[in-house]
Amino acid sequence: KRLREYLSEHVPQKPRHRLLVLAGPTAVGKGTVVKYIQDQYPEVLISVSATTRAPRPGEVDGVNYLFVTDEEFDRMIERNELLEYATVHGTHRYGTPRTPIDTALKEGRPVMLEIDIQGARQVRKHMPDARLVFLLPPSWDELVARLEGRGTESAEEQARRLETARTELAAQDEFDDLVVNDQVPDAARKVVALMRVSNQGGQA
Ligand code: 5GP
Repeated sequence: KRLREYLSEHVPQKPRHRLLVLAGPTAVGKGTVVKYIQDQYPEVLISVSATTRAPRPGEVDGVNYLFVTDEEFDRMIERNELLEYATVHGTHRYGTPRTPIDTALKEGRPVMLEIDIQGARQVRKHMPDARLVFLLPPSWDELVARLEGRGTESAEEQARRLETARTELAAQDEFDDLVVNDQVPDAARKVVALMRVSNQGGQA
């Protein structure tokens, strides 16, 4: 105990980082916040998920997602390559590859996952140290406006996603921190700060 105290006072230590899971209802602007963090905080590893859904225009395989077939997704599960996986919006499967995360955390890098609530619950179970952060819209009306404004989904798909959003909002109590996505740079700064673990072993 004494030795540890001495070391923490006298030996400069690299900041430690933990895994952070960013969840939140559909169209809350998770994508925008994640993109901002990617550009402004390059030290943060942002996990690239595997998915069975088709790429949207402009999405690049290996960058936005690893786009895989159902058979490939099954194989990843069998080989235990996924830290968590879930069927999202009742349609396609999404999962988090384990290896890049383990490697980055070992190197002391902050790691961030942008996944749905089912996935967040699995991560909590497997990695109790992980910090679960829920991104909130400034209001429900704002959320609906953002979803409609995006215009990438059919009316039917929009309705399905709003329904998911309603259930997801109800789960916010399970999270460690709530961050309101009013101004993107603000939200991003708050999220990044939550990844840092202070040298004393307490929470930053
Ligand atoms: P989209 O199809 O709009 O890119 O993503 C739909 C949803 O899938 C988002 O709510 C996102 O959080 C979730 N998602 C993306 N990747 C993963 C993943 O690896 N695991 C889980 N559980 N959900 C994911």
